[in-house]
Amino acid sequence: MPTLYQKLQNIVSKKYISDSLIVRHAYSRNVDPVLQGVPDIVIRPKDAKEISEILKVANQENIPITPRGGGDCEFGGSKPIGNGGIVLDMKRMDNVVHLDEDNLIVTVESGISWGKLNEYLCHFGLYTGCMGPGSGMTASVGGGISHHSVGGGGCAKYGACTNQLVSLEVVLPTGEIIETGSQANRFSKYPFNRFGNGPDLAGLFCGDNGIMGVKTKISLQVFPKPPFANYKTFLMPRKSEQVSGKIYSEIRQKGIEVYDAMYLMDLIVRLGCQEGLYPMWDRLKKKRAIFFYTVEANSEAELDEKVNQLDKIIEGKKCEYLGPEISDGNMAKWHYTEQGHWQFYHNLWGMFPVFEPLTAECSTTIELFPKILQDIEQWDMEHSEDMNKIMEITKFRPISGSGPIILSKGNVIGLSCGFNSFGSYYDGKLHEIIDEINLKLWKSLLERVSKWGVMWYMMGDLMSRVMVDIGAYPAEYYNFMKSMKLTLDPKCILSRGKFNFWGNS
Ligand SMILES: Cc1cc2nc3c(=O)[nH]c(=O)nc-3n(C[C@H](O)[C@H](O)[C@H](O)COP(=O)(O)OP(=O)(O)OC[C@H]3O[C@@H](n4cnc5c(N)ncnc54)[C@H](O)[C@@H]3O)c2cc1C
Repeated sequence: MPTLYQKLQNIVSKKYISDSLIVRHAYSRNVDPVLQGVPDIVIRPKDAKEISEILKVANQENIPITPRGGGDCEFGGSKPIGNGGIVLDMKRMDNVVHLDEDNLIVTVESGISWGKLNEYLCHFGLYTGCMGPGSGMTASVGGGISHHSVGGGGCAKYGACTNQLVSLEVVLPTGEIIETGSQANRFSKYPFNRFGNGPDLAGLFCGDNGIMGVKTKISLQVFPKPPFANYKTFLMPRKSEQVSGKIYSEIRQKGIEVYDAMYLMDLIVRLGCQEGLYPMWDRLKKKRAIFFYTVEANSEAELDEKVNQLDKIIEGKKCEYLGPEISDGNMAKWHYTEQGHWQFYHNLWGMFPVFEPLTAECSTTIELFPKILQDIEQWDMEHSEDMNKIMEITKFRPISGSGPIILSKGNVIGLSCGFNSFGSYYDGKLHEIIDEINLKLWKSLLERVSKWGVMWYMMGDLMSRVMVDIGAYPAEYYNFMKSMKLTLDPKCILSRGKFNFWGNS
């Protein structure tokens, strides 16, 4: 009888499968500090057919599979939950399949990164609109669609990347391959529309955190990049949370189309400058909060009108314009013209050695985000005892607060908040103590933020279970979701453990 490994090797060949200790451990981690388990096997398929075969074998043998794109999920979504199982690395599938220039639709393999896709599109004067997540240099389009990702540029205008989805090719957990939207009609040659031919089945796989199927091909709308753009950065006055809330609100009330608008609180500006992340602000005497916007237009007149409207709103709030050049402090220009929208986030994650961002990335409303930030300050004070225990070991107290706060489509805010702790370089028992406190604090913060009624776009392992554990889902909703999962995936082969659909294991 062939072993599981031999059966899988027969599908992908020797070169694209491994059970070596080093490889297994490399795939046991995401960017978060929690070790959930080490997989038995890592496999790198080349297409939907191979994935279908792999899933059929996994069903026969009752072995869980975790799909993984760039591995950037902040809540442990792309690594196994518990020891064992298979990690399905999608990054070998990273080609552009077809660009339909007439209908402005691109079809890609799901493992392609946002960076690679947009590099390809720019040769045609096109872009993806929403540029995916801030991790877009490594994160995959498949991961983005599985998370409703947003934040890597363009989201005030285009919203989350799932807004641009046209159709999907998906391998269902039991191995069948389907296509959605226009492609549900076998006579349609190329994808052109998401909605129709019955219910919006693509929606079932959007933001599913890899539990409903493996996305193999993804068709997205693409957009001609407008010929004109302007970008401005401002130093903010005191009470910047409330001021930025008012600016966001007026932008929406007046119906001004912005491409990006971002607010960075004082703390992140101060620490970032201290750690050399923002050389453009070195000259600033006061390292206060920053606000910036980017607008695009099809003519100079349209651009001027938008800029005038925005400046009136912002300068009326005692914000100070920093000047047109990046060297003047114009982060917005760097963000838009030099791929800063991705570099910015990648740098943040490595701000300090042993830095562990325990984040809470979610969507909320313009009205609520300043209140949530205040409540996080309160939460921090209430948890001083645990924070101080970490400080006794590391000599640094964890820092709570927010990362970039961005305007998304509609009245929605993309809120990154949480606390930054320290950990992984401390040896033995000390390391275990820090890990335990970090996890306890992190869950408590996620619960606190959830109770503000936020929406989690990325949930992975940790967040999907916190929502269930704190009873945030009404029973009817949870049971409906569970019955859909078990209908598609009776043995919970895909991402077993998420949302506690397979018990608490
Ligand atoms: C520096 C940094 C910045 C970030 N900035 C943002 C941001 O601005 N906005 C944001 O939304 N997130 C952000 N994130 C979180 C994360 O990077 C994104 O959500 C990203 O879209 C994940 O893509 P990925 O390819 O890395 O997915 P992975 O982490 O590999 O996977 C994510 C989830 O999708 C599933 N999955 C992956 N590929 C497939 C597939 N083909 N089929 C089915 N399921 C699949 C996985 O099982 C997992 O549950 C950031 C993370 C980091 C480290």
